[in-house]
Amino acid sequence: MTGTIVTPRSRRVVTLCFHGIGTPGRRLEHGEERFWIGVDQFSDIMEAIRSHPRQADLTFDDSNESDFLHALPLLQRLELSARFFVITDRLDTVGSLSSEQLFAIHEAGMPVGTHGMTHESWRDLAALQMLDEELTGSAQVLENITRLAVTEAALPRGEYDRQVLAVLRRQGFDRVYSVDEGASNHSSWLRSRYTVIDHDTPSTVSAFLDNPDHSIGARLLRSAKNVVKGLR
Ligand SMILES: [Zn+2]
Repeated sequence: MTGTIVTPRSRRVVTLCFHGIGTPGRRLEHGEERFWIGVDQFSDIMEAIRSHPRQADLTFDDSNESDFLHALPLLQRLELSARFFVITDRLDTVGSLSSEQLFAIHEAGMPVGTHGMTHESWRDLAALQMLDEELTGSAQVLENITRLAVTEAALPRGEYDRQVLAVLRRQGFDRVYSVDEGASNHSSWLRSRYTVIDHDTPSTVSAFLDNPDHSIGARLLRSAKNVVKGLR
């Protein structure tokens, strides 16, 4: 035994992460512009995803109103499913999903998970002993809308540490999504995601799907988030 477990390609899972589509209806956070893509760009990328031989899991973060206006109709037309991670304090505010729109997404069979109440870093909240409250508070809001237990979470800003993961484990989450690059094993509790940003095209996304574990270096160069993480 060498200690290295080689996972067959077929057992690898790739997950894509989208944020806003079209024109933002709210004031963006600092540096958020690059996480927004055009309506046509989104539709072209989704067509490329659907026609690619590798199946990708799809996720949408931040509960922008574009989840309902642009993502849901296209997903339904292409007969695809996606998970939606919601910032519950933003529900029913301008530019974000309304409770009714979120209910419609849920009714369409799309799983809904938590992205926190506030979008504050869970690493910061865990350090202040406030992560439990953030998670239970957001889960309560979501459960009131969907009538289902919240079992999945996406890490705001992709930030986490051991303490964050320990809280999520203790609260019984079935799966947690980061924005670390690359593919994940089928059995992984913590799932990596490829974040689709403004510079992406059907070709860049297809190239990632062709070879999810080998595009990490190139992605690191353009990912400020990972650069920051590397400095910590
Ligand atoms: Zn987010």
